[in-house]
Amino acid sequence: MIKERIAWPNGAKCACCISFDMDADSILHLTKPNDGFRYVSAISGLQYGPYVAIPRIIDSYKSLNIKQTFFIPAWCVENYPKTVELILESGHEIGVHGYMHENLLDHTLDGERQILEKVMNIFQNYFGYAPKGFRAPLYNFTNNSGELLVEYGFDYDSSLMGDDMPYIITPKNGEIIELPTHWGMDDGPQFVQPFIYTGRPTRSPTSGFEIFKQEFFAAYKYGSLWLPVFHPYASGRLARWDVISSFLEELVSKGDVWFATLGEIATYVRHQIKIGNYHPLKIKVPQYSQ
Ligand SMILES: [Zn+2]
Repeated sequence: MIKERIAWPNGAKCACCISFDMDADSILHLTKPNDGFRYVSAISGLQYGPYVAIPRIIDSYKSLNIKQTFFIPAWCVENYPKTVELILESGHEIGVHGYMHENLLDHTLDGERQILEKVMNIFQNYFGYAPKGFRAPLYNFTNNSGELLVEYGFDYDSSLMGDDMPYIITPKNGEIIELPTHWGMDDGPQFVQPFIYTGRPTRSPTSGFEIFKQEFFAAYKYGSLWLPVFHPYASGRLARWDVISSFLEELVSKGDVWFATLGEIATYVRHQIKIGNYHPLKIKVPQYSQ
């Protein structure tokens, strides 16, 4: 089923990283710059992420003894510094996710560069180092993103969907490791309600999580990467996190599943490629020039 296998560390059957995109209320203010502050109830639901869900998730990770990755818009770093501090103090990784969760497809090369420049300065000021991982808000990696990520020294991206396994993307100025995921691994379609109620039904915690379990069992069977994309305000809710964290306990107790940050996975994959043990797909980005 998978042509190019990789030997995961210590004989693990697959690699796992729950990636949380802590968007909080950034996108509300981006889309409603003049009156976003009036949406008190919507903001309360989105702030549940940094205030309630993240401390809960960090506690679970601590008891499971695993380190994972969080992608955070820099606006949230400025507005929720204590939450960000908690994530970092606990040894987890933080990656770039725009300034205010911008749709990068709405921006030119210069506009995208300005956003990245601003974000890198904020990360440098708050953390004292440059982040190594990137996920485009809404997965909207553009025809310019790859080149910019190489220019700013990123190790890996996690916005694309081109394989089940880690692969390499080659913008014209270099190479980056791609840690792919896909919409079936995103909690949005299962659990997220937009700011205004639309009548869209919400899944129960167990039925909504079933899709992620099936994805895990395939990753375990075929030796790939299990990379769910969750949002603290959605999957960090009490009943959902109860279901998810119980499943994580099962996985950790198996003893043959490798939980790591995406940064660690990218470093490992890069090394396996270098020593000739892994020969992943290489995909040029952008795929087309016009
Ligand atoms: Zn996001």
